[in-house]
Amino acid sequence: MASELRIGQGFDVHRFQHGRKLLLGGVEIPYHQGLTGHSDADVLLHALMNALLGAIGEGDIGIHFPDSDPRYKNISSVKLMQTVTRVMRRRGFKLVNADVTVLAQQPKLSPHYQAIRTSVARALKVVESKINIKAATTERLGWIGQSKGIAATAVVLLRRS
Ligand code: MG
Repeated sequence: MASELRIGQGFDVHRFQHGRKLLLGGVEIPYHQGLTGHSDADVLLHALMNALLGAIGEGDIGIHFPDSDPRYKNISSVKLMQTVTRVMRRRGFKLVNADVTVLAQQPKLSPHYQAIRTSVARALKVVESKINIKAATTERLGWIGQSKGIAATAVVLLRRS
């Protein structure tokens, strides 16, 4: 049988809150506030997990890790990503590539691209060349532009052989 290709896309948003760490792709980014959420609110990994689950037809992270479940309170999203990776592999899928865009007015993320890429590749157990991390501002427009929170989108391609 020829290999089967599957595409997935993911999106997530978290709002800023003082007194929280800012985690993106498992990397702590120096900033005066972090993102709020039931887990560690790693918006980048959440978008990426939603893309992976979408590609294999497994719903979204809300189904797999419900925020009503105290087990997931403040949990590291890297741990959740490792679970998603296991589900994916059990189904026989391998990542071809992942492309992630973080939408944030602040902080400036380009100095952190490489660290995030390394961290995400490690969580997914793939080589770094399969991961692309980038960011955009919204030119100060809307809630992202007013630095009320961060959004992330991800597109993935998987292959099952
Ligand atoms: Mg989320």
